[in-house]
Amino acid sequence: MHSLLPLNNQSCVVSVLLPLPLNKEYHYNANPMLELNRGDLVEVPFSRRRLLGVVLSLSNETHAELKRLRWVIRRFDLLRLPKNLIDLVEWTASWTLAPRGSVLRMVLSTPSAFDSPKSILFYALASQENRICPKRLTNARRRVLSVFNDCIVIDHKNLLRKAVVGSRVIKSMVESGILDCSSAIQYPIFEPPDITGEWEILNTEQQKAVKILSSRINANRFSVTAVEGIKGSGKTEVYFRAIAETLAAGKQVLVLLPEIVFSSEWLERFTDRFAVKPAVWHSALQVRVRRDTWRAVAKGSVRVLFGARSALFLPFNELGLIVVDEEHESYYKQDVGVVYHARDMAVVRARLEGIPIILVSTTLSLETVENVRQGRYTSIHLAAFCSDINKPEVALIDLRKYSLDRGNFLSQPLIQAMQNTLDKGEQSMLFINRRGYAPLTLCNNCGHRLKCSKCTAWLVMHQMLNQLICHYCGLSTSLPKCCPLCNIRDSFIFSGPGVERLAEEMLLRFPDVKFQIASSDTVKGPNSTAELVRSMQSKEINVVISTQSIFKGYNFPFLTLVGVVDADLGLTGCDPRACERTYQLLHQVVGHVGGASRPAKILVQTLAPENPVMQAIASGDRESFLRFEINQRKAFGMPPYGKLAAIVISSLNLKQVDEVAQLIAKAMPRLNGVIILGPIPAPIAVIRCYHRRRFIVRADRKVNIQKVLRDWLAAIRPKSSVRIKVDVDPYNFM
Ligand SMILES: [Zn+2]
Ligand SMILES: [Zn+2]
Repeated sequence: MHSLLPLNNQSCVVSVLLPLPLNKEYHYNANPMLELNRGDLVEVPFSRRRLLGVVLSLSNETHAELKRLRWVIRRFDLLRLPKNLIDLVEWTASWTLAPRGSVLRMVLSTPSAFDSPKSILFYALASQENRICPKRLTNARRRVLSVFNDCIVIDHKNLLRKAVVGSRVIKSMVESGILDCSSAIQYPIFEPPDITGEWEILNTEQQKAVKILSSRINANRFSVTAVEGIKGSGKTEVYFRAIAETLAAGKQVLVLLPEIVFSSEWLERFTDRFAVKPAVWHSALQVRVRRDTWRAVAKGSVRVLFGARSALFLPFNELGLIVVDEEHESYYKQDVGVVYHARDMAVVRARLEGIPIILVSTTLSLETVENVRQGRYTSIHLAAFCSDINKPEVALIDLRKYSLDRGNFLSQPLIQAMQNTLDKGEQSMLFINRRGYAPLTLCNNCGHRLKCSKCTAWLVMHQMLNQLICHYCGLSTSLPKCCPLCNIRDSFIFSGPGVERLAEEMLLRFPDVKFQIASSDTVKGPNSTAELVRSMQSKEINVVISTQSIFKGYNFPFLTLVGVVDADLGLTGCDPRACERTYQLLHQVVGHVGGASRPAKILVQTLAPENPVMQAIASGDRESFLRFEINQRKAFGMPPYGKLAAIVISSLNLKQVDEVAQLIAKAMPRLNGVIILGPIPAPIAVIRCYHRRRFIVRADRKVNIQKVLRDWLAAIRPKSSVRIKVDVDPYNFM
């Protein structure tokens, strides 16, 4: 650590960015002895606090306000932020319109990483000539000495454990000269991956793919390669080779994955291949592991890291390759805080670093497909190993042909198929993206619907918890005895299906079936996911009723029937990616069921079998789906053929939110190629008592939408009680 006292009254001025929701940087005086540079982490006074910040620039010129500037307190010697990472902070801020300080906050998300690492005490026997031989040894001291029969040096904790003594015994032995004591910093060990192991034999397609990726890595400059292939096409094996090649060149590798994957046996594949567990980075990490991993990435002792989206902002110094697996997942869009898309920013980081990036998916996103078509990205398509014989059969069930009783959601063909599957001793999955029992609860007498008191959202009945729950704010309440409007007792009925209601209906048909519900209410965290997978694989359950795709990384060899209960659910609403998501989900299901010897069947219940999405799913024709989807998006100027942005204004105070919305409306620009809709109440007009007003901006591709938004909102300075959230390229339309 350096002193803060300046010599000879000399000083320099540095600008420091602070991890606060502010765009501006602050100037400080710094002692030249600190030898500050761009990227240095410093502690500075700010208001009445001390904050960690990063030096952006420095100048030796005398600053007009030099005398009034406060002083940098100290520099953290441990590490400096890499230049490319600071550039990424600036880039992300300018792209998302988030304050630079907010983006920096994501980089400095682990403040404990900057504390000086704690040193650990080590003990050894004092050398023979110095050692004082005590006349009499207590049993405790004898046990301590016997530990050194097996080792020369041992750390404090292990010595206590092995000798079964207290700290005082050790201390007294040091004082009486029997033991020598020293202290040292112990860094956690991240074993380097072993790249010399044996590799699987590749098929011709894989070999070609590996060759292309290899040339990208050797070119040692920015490039984007998209790799598409369904499960069984061996795409993971292909990018593992690219990882090995990058490691051999002495570079670090970052692999981004959706958060849900971290529980899976999928990471074990890496361990099988590289003989070590990969370093990981996700929200469930313990503070200590987070701190150690952050430091180890910066120090370079982590060579490969598998991370959730926030890993993009880790301080790699020798990054040589980025892989984004499941690049189509909307998980990569962060919706709170800095609203950014991790896949897109990963491409930016690769460009800033001048390195290759690989985007991997079972079904590439339309954005990536379009970039390939325009020649900006190259693509590799891997076909499946297995022949078409084992491809699951997909059939649409036209719900209009079957009159389902009120409160029933399973059609006759689906029930029959479940019966056949049970008879064969195989497993079924029912899929519906709705948690709880029923999405709507209403009074049978007056029609009153039960609504959340804090949001404009219906309360969802959860029978298992015997609670009505708001899925937007989490409010939970019991079902009232009487209707609050007409006061009639026990008058409530439920409308629409949820996973619990499907379970109820299924049990009426198949009373002996063993089943489990898989939703965020019942499957929480890695352990319960692993437990569900185990009970599926060991055939302890016959049916799983699921709200989400739990397919990634798992094999369910006995799962031979999937019933999609309401395929139309994803197609409604104003989200331009709704069709694509439905297609991706169903396509993924197709790729993951059944095994080599058991043909699988997928039944899709729909009210609109003529819909091109449904047709494409049934025929398995990806090209025709893409044609349809591209035409749709082009016709409406939707991404990636046009640009979208959303502005959401929210406040607890209804009057203030409307005032600010009107202020923004008045400043609305009139520009060629830009259409602005709003302000209107957002579809969920109130969440957690916050009133929400929304603008949607649609612009032609050539328009710099960030500049439009920045110019437009520059003069708007709302009170702190009103929030303005800007979302460039929104994925959330609620
Ligand atoms: Zn009523
Ligand atoms: Zn609510």
